[in-house]
Amino acid sequence: MLIIGSHVSFSNMQLLGSLKEALSYGANTFMFYTGAPTNTVRKPINEIFTTEAYELMNENNIKLKDIICHAPYIVNLANRSNEDKYNFSVNFLKSEISRCEQLGITRLVLHPGSAVGISKEEGIENIVNGLNQILYPECKVTILLETMAGKGSELGCDLEEIQKIINGVDNKNCIGVCLDTCHLNDAGYDMQDFDTYLNEFDQIIGLDKIGCIHINDSKNTKGSHKDRHANIGFGTLGFTTLNNIVYNPKLENIPKILETPYIGDTDEDKERLYPPYKFEIEMFKNKQFDQDVLNKIRAYYKK
Ligand code: FE
Ligand code: FE
Ligand code: ZN
Repeated sequence: MLIIGSHVSFSNMQLLGSLKEALSYGANTFMFYTGAPTNTVRKPINEIFTTEAYELMNENNIKLKDIICHAPYIVNLANRSNEDKYNFSVNFLKSEISRCEQLGITRLVLHPGSAVGISKEEGIENIVNGLNQILYPECKVTILLETMAGKGSELGCDLEEIQKIINGVDNKNCIGVCLDTCHLNDAGYDMQDFDTYLNEFDQIIGLDKIGCIHINDSKNTKGSHKDRHANIGFGTLGFTTLNNIVYNPKLENIPKILETPYIGDTDEDKERLYPPYKFEIEMFKNKQFDQDVLNKIRAYYKK
């Protein structure tokens, strides 16, 4: 079965709002941040709404195991030049795992980190050390290392770097990978020939490690190292390539998450932004690109 959703908001520290937003897009999964992705200020989980969310999930046949949490992207385990900051990142991720466990969420996406002013090897060593402090044998949450575009000094933009991190982690059952199609393209992998990539992935890391896939088009060409997401069918990957990835039989039961940009209203009124996900998900369900989709999104949310 196709498991597809998008990034949604997580307001008032409760799952219910996120779930309702996902349902409004016709999704059967979703991804959220436990607060602003750009900071680490977090409030306690609002348990009152969690029970209601579980009931609504059951009614709609949405499984907790398919829901994804994304750690804030300012957390950088690769950088240890300031020991206090490094320890803060480690402790923040420990608390993020306990928030996930509290909600019953089992998949946590993490950007591996950036090696700022240090060698890649040192950066990887710091990431491994951090992960080994965070993960523990009975941990119910799997940290999914996201494949990165290679912007600046980002780590995790090739299979070998991801493999090195995973090799260093003691609790291997708690570590996996989140593929991001925009990032893979920007890192230099050919998404038109996705099966070759998957074969390579299988040999180096193992397909069973893939726990999530971010489905995004890219504004830039292969190998650009830019990381700018485009709407489905409006980037350099195109609808057919992405649709083939979504329906790749080797990735059948893996949650697919859209992180495409919101659509501006008109050229004059760029202030009003609309979520594209309901319509982009529909195109994948229909396996059919709609050239006029952006106007349909504007028309739908305008009324
Ligand atoms: Fe990400
Ligand atoms: Fe992503
Ligand atoms: Zn990105």
